[in-house]
Amino acid sequence: MGKKQKENLDIDQKETVCRTLHQYNKEPLSDEDMRKLQEIAEDYRRIKNYVYTRYGGVGSLSKLYPGYTVQNEMTASGLRADLSMPSVYFYRAIFDALGDIKSQWARTKTKIGSLIAQNENLLPQEKHYLRFLIRVNNAFDAALNQKPIQLPQEIQVKYEELASQVDVEKMHRYLCRQVRKYHVRNLCTDKAAGFFITGHAYRYGIEKERHQDKSVSDRYGIFIATKENRKRVFIPLTDNNAYEKQLYIKLKPEENGIEIHIPVQIKVRIHRDYLNEIGLSVGIWGMFTTHEGHIYGEQFGKLHGELTEYISKANVSYRREKNNNVGRKKYKARKAKLDAKLETYINQEINRMLEQEKPKIIYLPKLPGNSMGGYNKKINYSIGIWKKGLIKQRLQQKCTQHTIELVEVFGKGISTECSNCGAVGAYSKDTFFCSNCGYETDKKINAAKNALKRGQTQYLNKAFVSGEEAEMEQIIQK
Ligand SMILES: [Zn+2]
Repeated sequence: MGKKQKENLDIDQKETVCRTLHQYNKEPLSDEDMRKLQEIAEDYRRIKNYVYTRYGGVGSLSKLYPGYTVQNEMTASGLRADLSMPSVYFYRAIFDALGDIKSQWARTKTKIGSLIAQNENLLPQEKHYLRFLIRVNNAFDAALNQKPIQLPQEIQVKYEELASQVDVEKMHRYLCRQVRKYHVRNLCTDKAAGFFITGHAYRYGIEKERHQDKSVSDRYGIFIATKENRKRVFIPLTDNNAYEKQLYIKLKPEENGIEIHIPVQIKVRIHRDYLNEIGLSVGIWGMFTTHEGHIYGEQFGKLHGELTEYISKANVSYRREKNNNVGRKKYKARKAKLDAKLETYINQEINRMLEQEKPKIIYLPKLPGNSMGGYNKKINYSIGIWKKGLIKQRLQQKCTQHTIELVEVFGKGISTECSNCGAVGAYSKDTFFCSNCGYETDKKINAAKNALKRGQTQYLNKAFVSGEEAEMEQIIQK
């Protein structure tokens, strides 16, 4: 490892952060399927409200950790049978509600903690004692419920030492008062917006769809357990991803749709020395050009050309000899190799750019055609369309990994606007020229400078009008 790299590691920090990924239904659900999901959400809501009511109070504090008591009592309550709710949903709803109750208590404790810290009428030893009660669950519970405080031996010693210095009764009365005043019990919700779902209640996979002309096609999606025994709702999805996590199914009944939320833990790096703001323009010859004229991915056009040329040639011969399976296999292997080569190149060049430019924020014009992260394999692998979706997806991914902010700016007219004076200029093959102020520069540098300017002045991609995408398309293709 070189000296420079070592220095970088010293100022880097690694951290794990939680991000939420999303999946969407590909087509509207049938009314019947939507109703089945709403049924689950409705009962899920009822169970949660039941738990809020029964376990939200001071008297249930001792049952919250670790929660088995609640689980057993809920099993005995008969509610599951009343609702005929599958256990995968029943227990998930209980733990969901318990989680809410615990967070509510955590908020209350934080609030009271800061009040104690600010309270000038409390003596230091009183503050100590109260903070101890807040921090130790069993002590907190006992104090609020007027029970004797009994803790594991080592902590008990510590407790008694603190207790000996204060008026315990008075302290407990103070704590009770604060809790009465500030603890907000979880409100029962009347909205059945969705539900959590664990691995036993869903499965990703393919369903055969039979058409009227008797042909069959495959659809990828998710099967979700319903209240009917063994009956699952199949929902085709817009992507082909599968997760093995607890998912949140958000219902959008107004459009017969769903939104799946997937929490993921990702490792990120924080670079303390990445402080720059850069503007980028994106192109097929030279993947990225910065506002300072640095180019990354100069070979991209060449590599991409190789790939598309190979695909189109192969397609011609494929049409000639349709039954040549060996040839088809060879083709697939070769194409996969070229694909991989291009992807590796994209990754390398993005890495190189981030290392060289050390950006804190990257401003990127809204690219036409596909939205951020909505990278569709089918589109990108077809001939003639270059991999801007892939480039952007990779850039997004790397920015997330390195905690760099990637901001989309408004794309309209970004290459015809003069970055020097703001007037509308014109460009020939590679050069931008402004007849208003006489400014002349590389077309891509001008666009990248505008990206930076638009980003810094908050002229972001909010009201993007679709007609303008065609214009951007032209600029990028050149
Ligand atoms: Zn000008």
